[in-house]
Amino acid sequence: MIGSPCAWGATLSSLLSSGKSHLLGVSVGIAVALIALVLRYPASTVPMTVATILLFCAVFAYVLSSQENIKLLREQLARQELVFVDFGLKLDETGSLSAWAANLGTSSFVVSGVDVRTQERSTSQRCPVNVVVPAGKLKSKIPFDDRIFDTLRSDAFVHFDISLRCDGLVENHQTRWKGFTVERRPRRQLEEGFTGLWGVACPKCSRFDFMGMRTEGLPNLDSAWRRQTQLENDLRASCPSHRSALLLPSNGKKQLVGVS
Ligand SMILES: [Zn+2]
Repeated sequence: MIGSPCAWGATLSSLLSSGKSHLLGVSVGIAVALIALVLRYPASTVPMTVATILLFCAVFAYVLSSQENIKLLREQLARQELVFVDFGLKLDETGSLSAWAANLGTSSFVVSGVDVRTQERSTSQRCPVNVVVPAGKLKSKIPFDDRIFDTLRSDAFVHFDISLRCDGLVENHQTRWKGFTVERRPRRQLEEGFTGLWGVACPKCSRFDFMGMRTEGLPNLDSAWRRQTQLENDLRASCPSHRSALLLPSNGKKQLVGVS
């Protein structure tokens, strides 16, 4: 194991981390040994050759470690300019929605747009905004054009997801999509993830029978649409009994409609 790269790396790092005194002691020892060798054999070229080789090794080790440090420094600098953001939505007392963004990085960025998709409309719609989020700060109340919900058919629940467009120093960052549900009646309520009924119909017989998809743990609409496709395949395959593990447990209402 002594000869393995791991062992050598550990030895080198322990040598470097044990401080300058250790290295100094070793180098003084080598120098003394070389001087003694020269005094003992003045005509020999061996001490000079050994000294040259040792010097070469020391320089080589130094160059290697400096290169590693420079690489680390560069990576650190590049990382400092990247955008790291967490975000979400909140509902105020008046029932209007606004986005919030927390800057978890070390340089400021501008939130330049809030992209919105809904269950019914998969193409995203961008609400342009212009809000600077300084490093280490949270910006709440990023204006959010929630008229998008008024144009939808009047369901009790609106399933949608949002993604923020953040312009940083060196990159324009598009966040992941995050799903939310707005319940419209009796009063507006906001929940993270998808709640309420996500209705599905059998693609074979077109019956929907108040069938709902399980929506727990879905982070965004992409994953919900994927699960819906999977569920519809199950329904088609099991038609007319309509069975799937992705279906919400049946209730009295479903039984009633299913029988009629
Ligand atoms: Zn069917």
